[in-house]
Amino acid sequence: MNNTHHNITIIVADITTLHVDAIVNAANETLLGGGGVDGAIHRAAGPELLEECRGLGGCATGEAKITAGCRLPARYIIHTVGPVWHGGGRHEAARLAAAYANSLRLAAAHHVRSIAFPCISTGIYGYPAKEAATIALNTVRDTLPQCPSIETVIFCCFSEEDAEIYRGMCSWTA
Ligand code: ADP
Repeated sequence: MNNTHHNITIIVADITTLHVDAIVNAANETLLGGGGVDGAIHRAAGPELLEECRGLGGCATGEAKITAGCRLPARYIIHTVGPVWHGGGRHEAARLAAAYANSLRLAAAHHVRSIAFPCISTGIYGYPAKEAATIALNTVRDTLPQCPSIETVIFCCFSEEDAEIYRGMCSWTA
């Protein structure tokens, strides 16, 4: 993906370690913690994150809410909820796209310049990795023009296999 105004990068890392304005959490609708990246973020951010999340009243699938980064190097955490994969017939693609788009818009509303996404829904929620990566890349490309503050988007994969999927798609999406 090549956009002269935005820097889009694909890395393999633990998202909790990144020095960016905002990281995105693949949360569940309760926003009260879970496994996978959600658990890692709560562990690294500390108990004050759970305290702040308790006041948010949960988050519907496809929506996004924001908290402080607490003990993370990131200033903000954008909590979004991707869809559980049920085979593709339950609006999973639209809901996954909404999770990416609403996260970006909320970040832009807070003047975020750099943001990192995990591979939302592709862990416990079972979304096929290639289909999810296509939606992630296309939705970010299509939503960034509405988000003037955002200069850098990082796709923070947790495995080299996921990063290869994104790299392969970027070359033909560009
Ligand atoms: P979901 O419930 O949305 O599927 P998961 O947390 O189970 O969320 O998985 C989403 C993605 O996050 C998976 O690709 C998983 O490998 C990845 N992941 C897990 N821990 C981390 C972490 N610390 N940093 C970045 N990505 C992570």
